[in-house]
Amino acid sequence: MFIAPRDTGWLEVIAGPMFSGKTEELIRRLRLAMYARQRVVVFKPALDDRFSSSEIVSRNQMKLESISCADTSEILQISESKDVVGIDEAQFFDESIVEIAERLAAMKKRVIIAGLDLDFRAVPFDNVSRLMASAEYVTKTLAICMQCGNPASRSQRLAGKGSERIVVGDVESYEARCRRCFSPDPH
Ligand code: ZN
Repeated sequence: MFIAPRDTGWLEVIAGPMFSGKTEELIRRLRLAMYARQRVVVFKPALDDRFSSSEIVSRNQMKLESISCADTSEILQISESKDVVGIDEAQFFDESIVEIAERLAAMKKRVIIAGLDLDFRAVPFDNVSRLMASAEYVTKTLAICMQCGNPASRSQRLAGKGSERIVVGDVESYEARCRRCFSPDPH
């Protein structure tokens, strides 16, 4: 079974705040590739097990079987036989994810990466910034501000939910906020 490779690979990044439909958009793109019988694989970082350890799940309950990985070196190996490689929650991988994505594109893979562009203080996640700079296609997703209804580009951590950079949580810990309603130090 030989499927001729495309002439080149490329990177697509889907970046935005929480509650902006990033995973939904990632799943949508991967599904279309699957309908075309392309070989698809999707990875997520092992620490993110909010909904399911073997699937990526969007807030509207779209699901796709995924591989949880603690070590990014697994990604290259498993992706070798694939046409399209999805990566969810890119901000939770270590910085090697950037080089892995580049190498996959050099291997003529279509690489689709979803992740948070900003942390809860609105400081960029380095991995995602670098991937956005390197990508051929960048989609910024916006949520709707849960305070005022404006377009929301920030993930507000709610008061009392800690100051660690990575706190995996959901509606109980975060709100989408616009620039005006966002505060890096909630009280
Ligand atoms: Zn607002």
